[in-house]
Amino acid sequence: MDVQLGRIRFICGDNGGKYPFNHSVYLEGKNARIIIDPASSLQKLTDLKQKDGVDQVWLSHWHEDHISYINLFNNCPIRISERDFPPLTNLEIFLDWYGIKETHLRELWKNVMLENFNYRPKQEALFLQDEKTIDLGSLSVQVIATPGHTPGHLSFFFPDEEILFIGDYDLTSFGPWYGDVLSSIEQTIQSLHRLKAIPARIWVASHNTGLFEKNPGKLWGDFENVIYQREDRILKFLNEPKTLEEIVSAWLIYGKPREPKEFFEFNERALVGKHIEYLERQGKITLDKNNYVKL
Ligand SMILES: [Zn+2]
Repeated sequence: MDVQLGRIRFICGDNGGKYPFNHSVYLEGKNARIIIDPASSLQKLTDLKQKDGVDQVWLSHWHEDHISYINLFNNCPIRISERDFPPLTNLEIFLDWYGIKETHLRELWKNVMLENFNYRPKQEALFLQDEKTIDLGSLSVQVIATPGHTPGHLSFFFPDEEILFIGDYDLTSFGPWYGDVLSSIEQTIQSLHRLKAIPARIWVASHNTGLFEKNPGKLWGDFENVIYQREDRILKFLNEPKTLEEIVSAWLIYGKPREPKEFFEFNERALVGKHIEYLERQGKITLDKNNYVKL
């Protein structure tokens, strides 16, 4: 359900904001009307454009499930962190940032991006500066850099309304995503700590529950703990030396094979890869010939 919170509107996405949908946020400043992450619902966003009007599109980050309906607003400037803009300029860069190398997977994803997510390259954007406060007219927004999920992921704090938009640090039971080439587990943890410390009264996340009108409390810790649980499972599995393929085939992140297999196998590999790198940096494992071994 959509909820109006002063000059800020929570727009609940189709299918409860589950991927490939998200939840959008509409800001009705006296000087500018903004849609954040237009991938919630084609119908709702079409109505919003006609009835309420939109002057700018803001993006929390570059992922496809945050931009699906951006072309409704082609006459509006896009604002995003400079660090996250390159994938929006070129589909090849987009796939590179996901680390998709195999030709047939690239072709498959190109099609999905063009057909399902309406990807069209963007020539220009205005950049949102980290830590700036922007006055939209009777509504002010603090831009908070929260890298990790992506290098330029932004969160937004509305100090007067005490509302915090936390984007894809979405407090779901699946846990955080940090499987892209430029994602970082360390930065994800730091960003979570930073967000948790902000004195908000209402929290808005991009997926699933989305609107938290009470402090998510324990969910912050649960979400972060998923990272350590994934790490524990990998370390336990390495009681015997294992090849990367053996680790990936064990489905330690997702728990079991999921469909579409090509999609989830890629994700499993991406997240496992990040954990392996992280464990190596911490000196907890090393590569011996083709096997990862515990130290
Ligand atoms: Zn994302």
